[in-house]
Amino acid sequence: MKRIIEYFRSLMLLELMAGLGVTMRYFFRPKFTINYPEEKTPKSPRFRGLHALRRYPNGEERCIACKLCEAVCPALAITIESTRRDDGSRRTTRYEIDLFKCIFCGFCEESCPVDSIVETGFLEYHFENRAESIMTKDKLLAIGDRFEAEIAENRNKDAAYR
Ligand code: SF4
Ligand code: SF4
Repeated sequence: MKRIIEYFRSLMLLELMAGLGVTMRYFFRPKFTINYPEEKTPKSPRFRGLHALRRYPNGEERCIACKLCEAVCPALAITIESTRRDDGSRRTTRYEIDLFKCIFCGFCEESCPVDSIVETGFLEYHFENRAESIMTKDKLLAIGDRFEAEIAENRNKDAAYR
């Protein structure tokens, strides 16, 4: 009996009608697709994009070469070498992140005691050869300088969530 009912249901194209009903229901609703890159979706202040090294407002780099980020990185993507400056402070002579190893977990950012290494909301970048995937200290500081206003704003928003 069940098979006979199913046979007549298939003859009446009920499933096709139900599918067309869904299509018509969504046809006049607002669309979720966007025309990227002209249009962009909002990003969370916790979005983990390209890394940056930050400075203090007086221009001094924040990083104190404690190497916590290097130790915590699960992908072994961070390489740090450091030295002691004439004023007695410790600073990095080499700070590199291999973005081909990085899994953008954010552990480096969370481990940093001075808010130096952060992940920005910047995601529109590409590489044209293998060597470009190594983010050197100079590149990371330059990204920090470029996005400092946005980084500070996102950290304030993030603090408000906690
Ligand atoms: S985001 Fe994660 S994987 Fe990438 S450098 Fe930081 S700790 Fe390492
Ligand atoms: S970025 Fe932060 S965690 Fe990493 S070495 Fe510098 S101060 Fe330490």
